[in-house]
Amino acid sequence: MFQPDLLKGKRILVTGGGTGLGQSMGKRFLELGAELVICGRRAEVLEKTAEEFRQQIAGASVETHSVDVRVADAVEQMMERIWERRPLDILVNNAAGQILAQTHRLSTRAIDSVLNIVLHGSAYCTVAAGRRWIAAGDTGKVVLSILTVSSLTGAPFTVPSAMAKAGVLAMTKSLAVEWGPKGIRTCAVVPGPFPTPGAWERLMPKERGGNEELVKTIPLRRVGEHAELANLAAFLVSDGAAYINGDAVVIDGGKMLQSGGGGANTSAMLDWTDAQWDAIRPKR
Ligand code: NAP
Repeated sequence: MFQPDLLKGKRILVTGGGTGLGQSMGKRFLELGAELVICGRRAEVLEKTAEEFRQQIAGASVETHSVDVRVADAVEQMMERIWERRPLDILVNNAAGQILAQTHRLSTRAIDSVLNIVLHGSAYCTVAAGRRWIAAGDTGKVVLSILTVSSLTGAPFTVPSAMAKAGVLAMTKSLAVEWGPKGIRTCAVVPGPFPTPGAWERLMPKERGGNEELVKTIPLRRVGEHAELANLAAFLVSDGAAYINGDAVVIDGGKMLQSGGGGANTSAMLDWTDAQWDAIRPKR
């Protein structure tokens, strides 16, 4: 689909790049010649992923940083260490937390946790990178944020995530205008369902009917493949997309159009009893 050197020379940070979609995007960026930096809280997960990349892709350059993006000072220190080696060209805000629950039964801690990772973490990372690019007068830089369909439509039972991602969308559109004249593009990807162990453990308890029920809500009658999302992300951060600024591209097999996005496959859950909800509460 792409020239193998599409991202040659680009230094890219993927937050939450040790697992799931962040891992798949990172792998694609490396295949296309990028220099990759991944961060997340668990150092051992990051190292394992980095080692896999080095074995799978000849000459892969992968750097890892253990960081909690909820902590502004920790993000700042990570950016300092990254810049010491070489400034970033591209930031991908991908790290996220998610809870499937009735909103009136959420603890304030649970609400804060999701908002702090997604909304605050994305803002801290974006501002830390943008400030450095602007101070240096660097141009041709990109911030790509990974959203959810719920950021466009709202969604029952994942309200803090929908709120936080909608905030990141507002940041994307606002900075497209404010930072565009400075040579920094901001854009976003809005994925539908792409199975990952992390998201499926939190969002797809067997009580929801599994993938079989889910695919009925998707016009293309299948879930997304990681390579499809990774290719879209690679295009959007590449110089080939240099005129795309402030947009959020939906990649969901048409799900949002069929059934209102985040609300789809949750309609049956509107009638669940508290006992049914208790049954799917995370045990830890
Ligand atoms: P995932 O595997 O659980 O990825 C989340 C990543 O974020 C993990 O690597 C996690 O690493 C990191 N993370 C969480 N909290 C963090 C923190 N405080 N500081 C730093 N890193 C943190 O889930 P995924 O399915 O790949 O999701 C990736 C992105 O795609 C998310 O933004 C999600 O909202 C979006 N998305 C996914 C789907 C889907 O169907 N999978 C659909 C729509 C949108 P640690 O736990 O080690 O910190």
